[in-house]
Amino acid sequence: MSENAPEYLDFIKDAVAKDVAEGKTKAVRTRFPPEPNGWLHIGHAKAIFVDFGVAEYFKGECNLRFDDTNPEKEDISYVEAIKRDLRWLGYDWADREFYASDYYETLYELARKLIRMGLAYVDDLDEDEIRAYRGTNVPDKNNITYTPPGKNSPWRERSVEENLDLFAKMRAGKFADGAKTLRAKIDMGHPNLLMRDPVMYRIRREPHYRTGTAWCIYPMYDFQHPLSDAIEGVTHSLCSLEYEIHRPLYNWFIEHCEVFPSRQIEFARLNLTRTVLSKRLLIQLVRDKKVAGWDDPRMPTIAGLRRRGYSPEAIRDFLGRIGIAKTDSMVDIQLLEHCVRENLNKKASRHMAVLRPLKLVIDNWPKGQVEFLEAVNNPEDPAAGTRKIPFTGELFIENEDFRELPPPKYFRLFPGNQVRLRYAYIITCTGFDKDPVSGEITAVRCSYDPATRGGDAPDNRKVKGTIHWVSAEQAVDFEARLYDHLFAVDRPMDVAPGTSFLENFNPQSLEILSGAKGEPALACVEAGTCVQFERLGYFCADKSVLNADEDSKPGALVFNRTVGLRDTWAKIEKKG
Ligand code: ATP
Ligand code: MG
Repeated sequence: MSENAPEYLDFIKDAVAKDVAEGKTKAVRTRFPPEPNGWLHIGHAKAIFVDFGVAEYFKGECNLRFDDTNPEKEDISYVEAIKRDLRWLGYDWADREFYASDYYETLYELARKLIRMGLAYVDDLDEDEIRAYRGTNVPDKNNITYTPPGKNSPWRERSVEENLDLFAKMRAGKFADGAKTLRAKIDMGHPNLLMRDPVMYRIRREPHYRTGTAWCIYPMYDFQHPLSDAIEGVTHSLCSLEYEIHRPLYNWFIEHCEVFPSRQIEFARLNLTRTVLSKRLLIQLVRDKKVAGWDDPRMPTIAGLRRRGYSPEAIRDFLGRIGIAKTDSMVDIQLLEHCVRENLNKKASRHMAVLRPLKLVIDNWPKGQVEFLEAVNNPEDPAAGTRKIPFTGELFIENEDFRELPPPKYFRLFPGNQVRLRYAYIITCTGFDKDPVSGEITAVRCSYDPATRGGDAPDNRKVKGTIHWVSAEQAVDFEARLYDHLFAVDRPMDVAPGTSFLENFNPQSLEILSGAKGEPALACVEAGTCVQFERLGYFCADKSVLNADEDSKPGALVFNRTVGLRDTWAKIEKKG
């Protein structure tokens, strides 16, 4: 697992190594701290890669800690989904599974300690007043942003005794939701707004999925997170760059609570084109039913990628290639697609399937004859061997592989032209049947040349096109789900004020073809397995993460398109 980790851990590895060399750190311990308010996405996979990778590199440990101090949004189903995805990615946290909600009592005591030190107070200002007193960044006359000092709360100078008493009453449920908060007493003139007496506790009568109604006060992230790290003896708390501005506060709580000196180090978060990486936004797609669920194959969630046909190796390959930087950037989703394509090219067995079938009749084929032709399973892997595919007088070909009137440079079937049927024979198009009413072409007619079995022409004649096919009698039916990017633009969040990112949703992100036909071997492809449909792309037999009834099975086959065959990324890379 994460065999590539060391090279890619880059500056984080160096920072940790320095702490170890200087004797500040004895045994390295990191943590991955998801909030159970949604399913993990590929951005989290990057954080996991870093957190577990650093621990592994330094022969330390990585805790899985659920950062569950926000009762409104959290749920046990998310805890389960997160653990399932972590396991699938190949990570093992053994018995190091923790919950910030288990620390409520300890956190409460640490808050009391700050009160006793004169470093925390109960405030009666409401949320809006707190914001107004804190102040905000404003442009000066030269349009340079500056931050005028805020204003102290009139309740800031309460005595230690009064604060201890009021805080106990807050816990005991004596006050209404929002009526009081506990705040750290730092500096209302601090240039970093987060340091202006941040709220540590709020009153919220909302049952928590683990602690039930035991608490009606809940600790805020900035107070809870550093102290949870310290309680667990986390030496290096690795997180994405948006937490950089929180670091002084992280250090303030650690220092003044006099607890284990955990150290926060930030790295660039992963942003990907044509998708969104934020649970808050992903949940909107699920709730608005823009997608079928968290594991919809269009979703950038781990479960969605898995259902789409990605393997943990392809995801790790991608994370290794993008590396870990100190500044945010946008990664082209085509790089992710390139990684899964390379991965599947090596391991996916090849099959023939027709997505939009058009009947092809071979008029000179002996009536009722079935011939079995040999086909290579995977040209990249000789050990994968060969298989026999049935060939008959009526076949299905791809609708777009025939044109009544061919455009220039069209080398596929049209009246009078020859093509090679993959692994089979060279055929000549002799005509077609047309429905007199609708004008629709109902069948293409051709003759085959028996001397060309296997597709080779004995007379070296030039045949430019090769097309795929399946036997009409022996084909299996399946549903093809053609997935495309979730959003139609690279940066879906770039929208005019007052409009939603949902307006950039790609209405063509899913096309369902119910009448697709495949060679008989497809009936045996197990749900969750990926194959290549020759000339069409990589497809994965559908496997739902939550509901096995939905899985692809004989008689109800469903194949999800993982990615097409054309590698747009390789071209981009070549151009530089
Ligand atoms: P989201 O906005 O998706 O809810 P979050 O940061 O609120 O993300 P958490 O569950 O709190 O989600 O995050 C757990 C860890 O994953 C944090 O350490 C966070 O830094 C990291 N993380 C979240 N998103 C990304 C990302 N896009 N790239 C890298 N790391 C990320
Ligand atoms: Mg969060």
